Amino acid sequence: KAPTPYYYTRPDEARLLLHKRDRYAHKGTFGHALLLAGSYGKIGAAVLSARACLRSGVGLLTVQVPGCGYPVLQTAVPEAMCRPDTHEHVLSGTTEVETTSPADFTTVGIGPGIGKASETLAMLKALLPTLTKPMVIDADALNLLGENRELLDQLPAGSILTPHPKEFERLTAPWQNDYEKLDRLREFARKYRVVVVLKGAHTAVATPEGDIHFNATGNPGLSTGGTGDVLTGVLTALLAQRYDPVEAAVLGVYAHGLAGDQVAEQRGQIGMTATDVVDALRWA
Ligand code: AMP
Ligand code: MG
Repeated sequence: KAPTPYYYTRPDEARLLLHKRDRYAHKGTFGHALLLAGSYGKIGAAVLSARACLRSGVGLLTVQVPGCGYPVLQTAVPEAMCRPDTHEHVLSGTTEVETTSPADFTTVGIGPGIGKASETLAMLKALLPTLTKPMVIDADALNLLGENRELLDQLPAGSILTPHPKEFERLTAPWQNDYEKLDRLREFARKYRVVVVLKGAHTAVATPEGDIHFNATGNPGLSTGGTGDVLTGVLTALLAQRYDPVEAAVLGVYAHGLAGDQVAEQRGQIGMTATDVVDALRWA
């Protein structure tokens, strides 16, 4: 069996991945992202993800939230356009204010705080066949895929999935040890032609080619609610800026961890919040 290519992201490599801004750029240059996030009681996930997306250089951002999230989003994130779902509490995919179809956005990010309502599953089922460009899939969107695995074949090639270990287990099956976990990770990324970001202390990014990139930034201060939603916003912003999906994943994971490291250095790990990480993203 041929040895598996394992990589480790060094600071100089991460820096090289960062795109320079063209003097003649305009907001269209940096893409228009659509973020589908939030449900009743979890609108904060949409706010965190949207703020992180804006702090990571997206040109324009539209956020689709359940009806109850509309005033929250417009107040907390005035830079983002917001389209309220016709459903008050969960995402159903229908909206009255805007008719742009998700396929017309530069990229789509889905998952933070969405829950697993039947209306939301129906939305996901209707959405996937319409998309061709790489997208970002996180949280309960991953859990819905785990419960409806026939949908996995419909993921646009090059999409970035961001499971933590429990979510990845729900997408595949439990593993006995780390070797089996990494084998499963590599197999999954190859089979579905996606980039899988297996989150944790040393986040592993698996590519469709079967490579695995380990990340070394980040610290246990990040072990707190909302930091994963922040990562989804970062990755959605990078895809909107037309980064190659593997480079977006490697760079985004690196920058997210680095932001957490800056917060830890300046203010300590204990008590770090996802909002602190959002604030440090621009520096990172
Ligand atoms: P989630 O589980 O979706 O909330 O995502 C948590 C985020 O925090 C992921 O990006 C993890 O990689 C990161 N994270 C959590 N714990 C640690 C840790 N001990 N070291 C580094 N990163 C961590
Ligand atoms: Mg999460």
